[in-house]
Amino acid sequence: MEFSLLVETFEQMEQTSSRLALTDYLVNLFKKTPANLLDKMTYLIQGKLYPDYEGVEMGLAERMALRAIANSSGKNLSEVEAIYQQTGDIGDAAGKAMVNKGQETLFSEPMTVERVYSTFDRIARTTGSGSQDTKLRYVSSLLNDASPREGRYIMKFVMGSLRLGIADYTVLDALAIAFTGDKQNREALENAYNVSSDLGTVARLLAEKGLEAIKSMQITLFKPIRPMLAERVVNAAEALERMEGKAAVEYKLDGERVQIHLSKDRVELFSRRLEKITDHYPDVAKASHSLKARETILEGEVVAINSQTGEYLPFQELMHRRRKHGVSEAVENYPVVVNLFDVLYLDGKSRTDLSYEDRRKLLLKVIKSGTNQIFNIVPQTVAGKESDIERFMAAAIESGCEGVMVKHLSSAYRAGARGYAWVKLKREYQSDLADTLDLVIVGALHGRGRRVGKYGAMLLASYDHKQDMFRSVSKVGTGFTDEHLDQFYKELEKHIIHQRHARVDTGMEMDVWFEPAMVIEVIASEITLSPSHTAAMDSIRPGFGLALRFPKFTGKVRDDKQPEDATDTEELVAMYKRQLKVHPETKTKEDS
Ligand code: AMP
Repeated sequence: MEFSLLVETFEQMEQTSSRLALTDYLVNLFKKTPANLLDKMTYLIQGKLYPDYEGVEMGLAERMALRAIANSSGKNLSEVEAIYQQTGDIGDAAGKAMVNKGQETLFSEPMTVERVYSTFDRIARTTGSGSQDTKLRYVSSLLNDASPREGRYIMKFVMGSLRLGIADYTVLDALAIAFTGDKQNREALENAYNVSSDLGTVARLLAEKGLEAIKSMQITLFKPIRPMLAERVVNAAEALERMEGKAAVEYKLDGERVQIHLSKDRVELFSRRLEKITDHYPDVAKASHSLKARETILEGEVVAINSQTGEYLPFQELMHRRRKHGVSEAVENYPVVVNLFDVLYLDGKSRTDLSYEDRRKLLLKVIKSGTNQIFNIVPQTVAGKESDIERFMAAAIESGCEGVMVKHLSSAYRAGARGYAWVKLKREYQSDLADTLDLVIVGALHGRGRRVGKYGAMLLASYDHKQDMFRSVSKVGTGFTDEHLDQFYKELEKHIIHQRHARVDTGMEMDVWFEPAMVIEVIASEITLSPSHTAAMDSIRPGFGLALRFPKFTGKVRDDKQPEDATDTEELVAMYKRQLKVHPETKTKEDS
């Protein structure tokens, strides 16, 4: 197929922003394309060589691109640079620079779409030392035989600046019209796209095998599935109403969504945007092999954790994993866990048509408990009352989650669809507490890993002066240096007691209890309602105490303070209310 045909269509498309017109141009182009070229054509019009999940990039440096244009146009490099300065786009610069270049010789190879694609492919696949020179030679081989109009698009493509604005759904419309004559068939195409994330394969299959083949297209291992998405609701009542009165409620973790594809000898992780992220999480990839499944596709949320307390850390901590070098240190320093929430494929069969309840049962079987520390099933409860959802949500927020996901018990997994079968309920406000708090250490957990022989986390209490009690408000395991940990271990030894102190009130279980003595300063991101801590119990909402979200030791031991001088529970209540005043639009029902 002549490359000039594609160039003409690109030029027409550039002139319009109307979706209808774009669709028409595409329909014409698809009809003229040989069936066995349709996959490549589909990628090319979206500025790609392969579906996104393959992660293939051209990787030609800008200076090399400018050199290629100079070579082929007969201009010198500084002239080409000047034109580039003017146009701001390397493709446009190539088009301009090449205008007066000599005619192609009689011996030049014809410019076909096949030739252009396979040269692009070679450029992308050339890696390692000296690869830039090789890539430059490939680009030049095309430019030497290209007209200025062709050169313009070749360079736009190579440099990733071909932006024709052709969305996936426009391609799907055009395919339906071009090959079935009926736009209604787009739905079947969309389903096929949702389970494969590969528009090129869908296009070619349709042209070669027809609509029936598209309708029977199945989930394939190592081709990511477009994820099911959730609508937002404002409160527990709306969530329950959407779910017809009874629903699964899951922690909504603040991490990165991951789709795990696993076979006996291969594992790949894909992000929500379906990019391959296996390299960011080698620990997760390795641990996947201990799951109880021969072949499976699972979905979960990767979350950074504090290795001592197991507490979830904010999403930003995962950024440390996005690097090319030093991954093994990052794995060591920034441990993660995966909370699995769905199974889409198991042992040769798609499971997306099963109900939520049945998929959850399968998922439980896949997670062989105790075999590794990375995989958990996401904490879940089944709720039939608003108060059940609210209680579960408070526990989720206190442990660092964003809120909860509420899911319809009998819903199938709808790949690529946003709907009310899943809804998200997020916490209402977010604040950074300006004040620090002074709290008493009343218990501790033994350390693990690097903290063996020290305490991993400490239980902190505030003082309730009315009843002369110490009521727990948080565990803290963050902000301690190794020296602190040694110092704390030594100092606290003299305060160890056999059981919880009579003046200490908490719902938490600890390895070691102390008499209230040592006061430390902490900061936190906010104060939240808590079903497990007892500070200011019932004062904001019946059955709930107050707790700290993302607490951190500031480094200050307040040995100038008696335990009774610690932050009082009444102060906590005042701080909680102040947060709400700062964000009045987010008041809860009970607070107004
Ligand atoms: P949002 O990004 O606010 O639209 O919320 C949807 C995202 O929440 C998903 O893409 C997941 O990354 C994340 N998430 C966290 N926990 C869950 C869960 N239990 N079920 C589904 N998605 C979850």
